[in-house]
Amino acid sequence: MILVLNSGSSSIKFKLYEHKSLKMVVSGTAQKIGEKNSIITVSDPYSKTTKELILPNHTVALKKIEEILISQNYINSFSSLFGVGHRVVHGGEDFHSPTLIDESVIESIKSNISLAPLHNRANLEGIKSIYHISPNIPQVAVFDTAFHQSMPPKAYRYAIPKELYTKYKIRRYGFHGTSHYYVSKKVAKLIKRDYKSLKIITLHLGNGASACAIDGGRSIDTSMGMTPLEGLVMGTRSGDIDAGVVLFLSNIVSTKEIDNLLNRESGLKGLCGINDLREIQKETDKNSDAQLALEVMAHRIIKYIGAYYAILGGLDAIVFTGGIGEHSALVREMVTKQIEHFGIEFDKTKNETTQKDAFEITKDTSSVKVWVIPTDEELVIATYTKEIIEALL
Ligand code: ADP
Repeated sequence: MILVLNSGSSSIKFKLYEHKSLKMVVSGTAQKIGEKNSIITVSDPYSKTTKELILPNHTVALKKIEEILISQNYINSFSSLFGVGHRVVHGGEDFHSPTLIDESVIESIKSNISLAPLHNRANLEGIKSIYHISPNIPQVAVFDTAFHQSMPPKAYRYAIPKELYTKYKIRRYGFHGTSHYYVSKKVAKLIKRDYKSLKIITLHLGNGASACAIDGGRSIDTSMGMTPLEGLVMGTRSGDIDAGVVLFLSNIVSTKEIDNLLNRESGLKGLCGINDLREIQKETDKNSDAQLALEVMAHRIIKYIGAYYAILGGLDAIVFTGGIGEHSALVREMVTKQIEHFGIEFDKTKNETTQKDAFEITKDTSSVKVWVIPTDEELVIATYTKEIIEALL
């Protein structure tokens, strides 16, 4: 079995995969770690178990998860696992690909803490807890930033004094790399073309959202920057904004409050008071702010597609993924209808057909193909974990 972990500051999401077939057998979460009323949920296709208990830290939470997985006969113990794969948010410039974890990798992840303090610290907690419980299980780190390390300097450098880059590593890194990689590779398979020959734009639209330009399987630009705040309009994050606005705000409120305003009170929520797109869609008839929020979001996505079309020098496919990309026919239509002059023949009926798996939303004759592909970052992490560990055997 391979265990995939996504450790947050107060939560752990996990999925357990059969290691030969990479079939997911059970998944779950531990929430409110460090609080008095923690919850562990474990679900498989037939049942769901929820337990309320006290989980003071990540190690206790993982021990409890181990206990539940043993009691439900999924594993004998964590030490019997084939390996553990971790989602690690920020690999900085140190990691271009997934990596077997050893002391030096842990040190590098630590050295990138300043780039993503909350996320990397939590990811390290997960790694250390597994090491503490079962020191001999091979562990693999899969970085959100790694896929974008192929970006050229002209895409990743900000036009600010060079020392800010050399001294503080201030540059664009990009995130959601595992998702952009997975859906771009999958669309190549679905349209039966060689991944290495394709120009693809992927749109990961969830609460966090980013676009990526992929040329021959390599990310050449992406919309998130040094942090996940840059780029598209998100649930509660502003995306692109004039840095002058930040300076202006710094004369009115504290840095902490600016962080809160731009990361948690902006985006769709800032524009209309609601961050859940399902709710916004219900409001558009009667609420002009909700309608505007949708339009600002779609306009930004369209601008990025135009920019990426230009830098790619052509386009074979666009992929929508993430909660909004996978489920909002309205957003997909608002975006795709506006760019039909790029060689896209939009198919409204296909777009509105609800499907669980991947589906195309363009006509068979469309020269640029547009697809909806559910993302599966955990499966990619499980696959890398399997490959890296098998290569050691
Ligand atoms: P996260 O980035 O937290 O993983 P998700 O990928 O789950 O987020 O996406 C969450 C977003 O997807 C929310 O804005 C939610 O409203 C939207 N969403 C989920 N289901 C639907 C749906 N059926 N129709 C429209 N939007 C949806």
